[in-house]
Amino acid sequence: MAQGVIVKAVSGFYYVDDGERVIQCRARGIFKKEGITPLVGDQVKFSRVGSEGVVEEILPRTSALVRPPIANVALVCIFISLKEPDLNERLLDRMLVQAESQHVQPLICVTKVDLDADKQMLHHLQSIYEPVGYDVLVVSGKFLLGLNEFQAYIAGKTCVLTGPSGVGKSTFLHALLPEAGIKMGDVSQKIGRGKHTTRHVELFRLNPHTFVADTPGFSQLDVTNMEPEQLQFWFPEIRTLRESCEYRRCLHESEEGCAIRSALDHGNLSDIRYGNYLAFLKEVREAKNRR
Ligand code: GDP
Ligand code: ZN
Repeated sequence: MAQGVIVKAVSGFYYVDDGERVIQCRARGIFKKEGITPLVGDQVKFSRVGSEGVVEEILPRTSALVRPPIANVALVCIFISLKEPDLNERLLDRMLVQAESQHVQPLICVTKVDLDADKQMLHHLQSIYEPVGYDVLVVSGKFLLGLNEFQAYIAGKTCVLTGPSGVGKSTFLHALLPEAGIKMGDVSQKIGRGKHTTRHVELFRLNPHTFVADTPGFSQLDVTNMEPEQLQFWFPEIRTLRESCEYRRCLHESEEGCAIRSALDHGNLSDIRYGNYLAFLKEVREAKNRR
């Protein structure tokens, strides 16, 4: 049986890339009976039926994102610009929490550093996020920055590319493609699509083992089913600090003796990160009250 990766799923058809071509497949009826839905990103075994195929088996998943629905994602590349649009740490933290809560490693890709003449903004960003443990990569498709570092980072992984519109994602991907040995024509239809076309989840292959999804749907933090107590776990530095918090069930809002408040007072926790934690906590509570 042949093996490949589902790169696209549209109205009951699964498009499986076997490394040489993409084969349109149906899924075996048994999946439906068992309540299993093949996902984009799934490694599958399939049999050939004429020019088409049938997905026979889904290999074990290492992860399954809910939004966007993609299996086996190992890295979320969060693109954020320093200017045009202005740096928005609230949005960045939202995307980071989104990645953390789905147990996928995030990578912060900073764009438009050229618009930050004295590098103040870049240093500001690095001073907040590097101590937390996040890698901050400077990238630009316009000025060809960070292409090799990015390639090395994503090699062999299935990645989701995310970030607000206008930060330079498509420009960067286009710059990356010749490096990856891919001809522009192969993918120009797939990336940088017009804002008004309906966008479905689709992976494209950068090299035999590297897939990238440029996808909407990741920047909205889904707090609807989160418990207020869970949120602290999606901020790595708060997750660590909480172990020395005296109060069980402390949500680190105001208590005297709270380790998180104390870290804040001593400059060991970013007030921007803490502020965003409180803002998200409020959102989670409000969502819970509506349930
Ligand atoms: P996307 O919506 O995230 O895909 O953003 P685009 O790739 O369409 O880029 C939006 C605009 O930003 C375009 O006009 C790009 O030329 C510009 N752009 C991309 N990268 C850079 C950069 O590093 N610096 C500057 N100044 N502009 C950039
Ligand atoms: Zn506390």
